[in-house]
Amino acid sequence: MLEGIAMTGVAFVTGGNRGIGLATALRLREEGWSVVVGSRSGTAPDGLDAVRIDVSDPASIEEAYAQVEERVGPVTLLVANAGITRDTLLMRMSDEDIDEVLQTNLAGSIRLARRAMKGMIRAKSGSIVLVGSVVGLLGSAGQVNYAASKAGLVGVARSLAREVGSRGIRVNVVAPGFVETDMTADLDDAQRAAILSGIPLARYAQPSEVADVVAFLATASYVTGAVIPVDGGLGMGH
Ligand code: NDP
Repeated sequence: MLEGIAMTGVAFVTGGNRGIGLATALRLREEGWSVVVGSRSGTAPDGLDAVRIDVSDPASIEEAYAQVEERVGPVTLLVANAGITRDTLLMRMSDEDIDEVLQTNLAGSIRLARRAMKGMIRAKSGSIVLVGSVVGLLGSAGQVNYAASKAGLVGVARSLAREVGSRGIRVNVVAPGFVETDMTADLDDAQRAAILSGIPLARYAQPSEVADVVAFLATASYVTGAVIPVDGGLGMGH
């Protein structure tokens, strides 16, 4: 093991009460991490330690992060996974649709990463994984707000990776394609068929398949500023 590179430690996973975040939390726990999950309800299944957090609210981020540190110690892995969609064509998109998505997915992740810096810079070590999306690079009709928020995360990761790489802190993006979660449950059969026709692996991902890659990035000691697709080939070349 390399000096200064923690192979496990304390992981904070936002949006960890269901979907990709829950699968990630369970996977990390299996690997020996002390995991705390954050969500607006402040609860989580499977005996996971949970805190209440609204990532669109700066005060709530501060409060939740302090609680995590108090309970289990400094966070060495932040998985900024909480995210929402408010899909509609741009012509019909309200100011609220734009603001809520950008505040939650993009500004929330930036603020979480900023808060994470405190402990990680002191420790001269840390890993941040931002959960982006294939649509951040590929684009998606009806998702201008969401695609912008996810494209923004790539800029965040690559800029922060340059800022703090010399302090032993790595920042990466995992970019899932379509994953079987509540977020995609509302798609009708026609939408599903259209999406599947563009996916070389011809199926959606299971949340655990994204969790595998987050867990890899958590400890991949020479990987930073990377955007790793987990999209069955959907976004190839982007
Ligand atoms: P789900 O809709 O299943 O879960 C979303 C999670 O985010 C929940 O845990 C929810 O918790 C949390 N969350 C939402 N808003 C907030 C908030 N303001 N503060 C705190 N927590 C919040 O989503 P998925 O598991 O599908 O998605 C997880 C991430 O993966 C998202 O960033 C999403 O954009 C991304 N992604 C998903 C894909 C998919 O196909 N499913 C594809 C590509 C990317 P609660 O509601 O309890 O607060």
